[in-house]
Amino acid sequence: MKIVMLGAPGAGKGTQAKKIAEKYQIPHISTGDIFRANIKAGTELGSKAKTYMDKGLLVPDELVVDLVVDRVNQDDCSKGYVLDGFPRTIPQAEALDEALATLGQKMDYAINIEVKDEDIISRMSGRRACVDCGATYHIVNIPPKKEGICDNCGGELILRDDDKPETVKKRLGVYHDQTQPLIEYYTNKKILVEVDGTIGIDKIFSKIVKVLGE
Ligand code: AMP
Repeated sequence: MKIVMLGAPGAGKGTQAKKIAEKYQIPHISTGDIFRANIKAGTELGSKAKTYMDKGLLVPDELVVDLVVDRVNQDDCSKGYVLDGFPRTIPQAEALDEALATLGQKMDYAINIEVKDEDIISRMSGRRACVDCGATYHIVNIPPKKEGICDNCGGELILRDDDKPETVKKRLGVYHDQTQPLIEYYTNKKILVEVDGTIGIDKIFSKIVKVLGE
């Protein structure tokens, strides 16, 4: 089962992608996490990506596409995967579809989690990320057991630079310009699934499971 998660930054794609990956036992591939891991490891890719990420801009397609195509060709992806944060532009989606077509495969579902901009802005200001393992929380919706401390690894929780209100507004602008057109792209491919992203994590997940199957 090959799945693409769509939705504005902060819509809850990552949270649902993790739940899908766990239930269906498929890898969760987050391009944002891959970039953050590269930044932390001090790689060349990381330093290139960081200059865009800190400004709320998209990393150029040529830095993302090969990375994802290589990843989905790895053995653990043979039964499928859930892509979180990719594709984010029409050229990325086309490149992915072309790569799949050469293997005689195609994407099965594109799940769009719909949340209004004003809700996104208030949600993102409450988001906290672990400086060590990257796990994300929300001070109201998904609080850590101990304030400011990561449940997974005990690392410090911070408001990421790209979650600060000014950057979030910029990221939403980028989303509407470059990523939202993917809704039409996948509607035309007849694989789009629309889910209201404001009904709570568990209800959203039940709606997704109804579509994907038990
Ligand atoms: P995310 O954690 O998915 O919100 O991604 C954080 C940042 O990483 C984004 O704001 C972009 O700068 C960059 N990024 C992640 N995925 C992509 C992608 N598919 N294309 C371009 N930039 C990306």
